[in-house]
Amino acid sequence: MKIFSCQQCGQTVLFENTHCEQCSSSLGFLPDQLVISALKSVDNAWYAMADKSIPAKRWYYCENHQHQVCNWMVEEGGSTFCVACELNRHIPNLGKIEERQAWQQLEFAKHRLVYSILRLGLPLISKKAEPEDGLSFDFISENNQVPEDASAMTGHASGQVTINAAEGNSVDREQMREDMNESYRTVIGHFRHEIGHYYWDQLIAEDEQCLADFRVLFGDDRESYADALEAHYNAPNPDWQQSFVSVYASSHPWEDWAETWAHYLHIVDTLEMASDLGLSLQPMGSNRQTLAVMVNIDPFRHDNFDDILAQYVPLTFAVNNLNRGMGQPDLYPFVLVPAVREKLAFIHRLLRSYTAE
Ligand SMILES: [Zn+2]
Ligand SMILES: [Zn+2]
Ligand SMILES: [Zn+2]
Repeated sequence: MKIFSCQQCGQTVLFENTHCEQCSSSLGFLPDQLVISALKSVDNAWYAMADKSIPAKRWYYCENHQHQVCNWMVEEGGSTFCVACELNRHIPNLGKIEERQAWQQLEFAKHRLVYSILRLGLPLISKKAEPEDGLSFDFISENNQVPEDASAMTGHASGQVTINAAEGNSVDREQMREDMNESYRTVIGHFRHEIGHYYWDQLIAEDEQCLADFRVLFGDDRESYADALEAHYNAPNPDWQQSFVSVYASSHPWEDWAETWAHYLHIVDTLEMASDLGLSLQPMGSNRQTLAVMVNIDPFRHDNFDDILAQYVPLTFAVNNLNRGMGQPDLYPFVLVPAVREKLAFIHRLLRSYTAE
């Protein structure tokens, strides 16, 4: 993610903002240009100050703007939903305030996910357009009857991603994190993990060479998924730290892929922000120079993954220590061992072929 500013007054604004705090200009995100723009009202539509298209387009807010869950813009003549909201199938019950609030947290995370997908240049197709190969989201809730065509659990099946709306509630999520004995559980983490399964189907499953390379690093995905998960829940791999980014990743090659993919997105998203902020670490003392770093690369466009990690790892040390100073859990509670770095590098090489300019 990048930092954005209001084109009307220069104030720094956030990705989710709908108004500038300083000059009150309306704000909206232009998905084709990946920028937040100040808006000016013209004839029942909006003119976007950041719009580089010629002639300037007439913009409208996505239909979900009325529910305070989306600030993305749509163009005249297309869908009334933005590219992120167009992916929704079932949404929570808007008659219940808690569910509306949970939905907002889900949408904020989902929009950040879609931003990354667009930055990566990956195909993003709604199931409404392509029922077989497209992507779609169901937000279900245990308090409501789960629709007949939806899954009752968070997960992925053939492009249909299901997220339990309770994940949008921080108290419920923390309880689940403790129950599952996880060091990290976030809404965006779920989205990044589940979409990883979708892109495995899209990018790896059908490509013989890619699948062979995948199996060398992640293992043979043909082993029974049901048996593997059962074995994992009965007796988790005690040595998972040696080769996996999380204990769950050690359950089956598909889960290893989804967990590692999610980490890849954590890394490029946070590093893009650190780079845009121009963050640098200049610790005093000659024995601390391994921490010195000036973050200045665009992880979505940089070829060498070692460079990305060389800038990222010192940052995680810094932010983890800042968090500890505030009594908060580590921002990045993971160790990137060599086997995990290799798997991340594989994902990076694969994705660079989509973002090549
Ligand atoms: Zn402003
Ligand atoms: Zn939208
Ligand atoms: Zn999974």
